[in-house]
Amino acid sequence: MSNALPVRVAVSGLVDDAITVDGNQVWWANGAKVFEDFEVTDSITNLAGGSFRVDLYDWPDLPNGGDNEVRLGREDYPFRVEWTWAVPMDFRLEHITTNGAPLVVNPSGTEPTREITCVATVLPTNIPDSDIHWEVSGAGMDFVGGTNWGREVHLAATRTGDWVAIVTVSNSTLRPARLRGTVLEKKDVNVYLHIVRDDNGNNPAMTVEHFDELLAVANQIWEQAAINFQLTSDVYTNKTDWLEISVTNNFEEYGQLQSWSSNTGGIEVYCINRFDGANYNALTWTVSDAKAGVTITTNATSRSLAHELGHACGLPDIYESRASGGQTASLSSNLVQQSWLPQDWCANAPNGGYGQLQQRQLLHRLLMYGYAESDAVVIPAGPIHGIDRHAVETNLKVGLSNMTREPQSW
Ligand SMILES: [Zn+2]
Repeated sequence: MSNALPVRVAVSGLVDDAITVDGNQVWWANGAKVFEDFEVTDSITNLAGGSFRVDLYDWPDLPNGGDNEVRLGREDYPFRVEWTWAVPMDFRLEHITTNGAPLVVNPSGTEPTREITCVATVLPTNIPDSDIHWEVSGAGMDFVGGTNWGREVHLAATRTGDWVAIVTVSNSTLRPARLRGTVLEKKDVNVYLHIVRDDNGNNPAMTVEHFDELLAVANQIWEQAAINFQLTSDVYTNKTDWLEISVTNNFEEYGQLQSWSSNTGGIEVYCINRFDGANYNALTWTVSDAKAGVTITTNATSRSLAHELGHACGLPDIYESRASGGQTASLSSNLVQQSWLPQDWCANAPNGGYGQLQQRQLLHRLLMYGYAESDAVVIPAGPIHGIDRHAVETNLKVGLSNMTREPQSW
């Protein structure tokens, strides 16, 4: 069952016509008829020129949204196929999804009373919303507005704790699939902003107003961990040398910058114009030294700020390929599998809810995906399989259950 790929085809014929479908499961879209044997022979008693669905197992030339012919028996059968192509049914219930950034849907975490959005992808689109049913339990979680059906529902919790949503699609062989999350007490984390400007006190690397804008979006991203970073103070230093920090040969100047301020009790963020010899717009010391603080440049995006704040919370970078210290490693193009994202897998959903997604593609959705140009924002529930910064392939602790939610720079 787990490899079934349902497709929908339309046929027409006369009532009481007989059909045979080789090796597949057939049922009517109106739910009136279910055929479960591999050699199916039955009478068409409910055919109204509508549609029915066929579940295919190991079907040769499996249709994938294209124009593959669907064989519904022999030509002399007294019905005809209205469509000579199949529209695959697709059901995805992704814990880690690109849908909705910077407000992450199907979030791993949230705080009490905050409304979250949960999404199931169900194709083809002519499967009605009313066929998609949700139930939820735990953490006092309930449906906003009482709407517990459709491709998108909104939930809010009344207290902390874990919750589970169960999604069922009527008239399909899909088993009820489970989406999980946790509701956490909200944490406020102080941010101490340090802005470099030139020797004369002009041309700051960033205005406080612009930093506020970046932080506002970063905080939307961080709602999935129930953390709010709040700007507590801003200070300036007049030092033209620090507007451009060299990272070409050594990190001495960078180390000096990051030592500007210490033990503030929150996160220290330093703003410069740019890094010389590097194309990234934000940098944190390697994770073991992440407590030194976060540096961003004039061109930093909200995502890069949010990513660096992830390092401040103790999370490492994750890559799909990496060369480091003479080592190289690259993920295969294998599909996601449960052992590679154990806490972010939807029980009973085909392929954990991810359709035909490869693990290396999945990484492109993660906030801790290590490339600065990425706009990925998801914090998963737990560890994810990938390549670490030393080019080692392993499960990396880039998730909500792995972080400190009360980070402090030193
Ligand atoms: Zn990073």
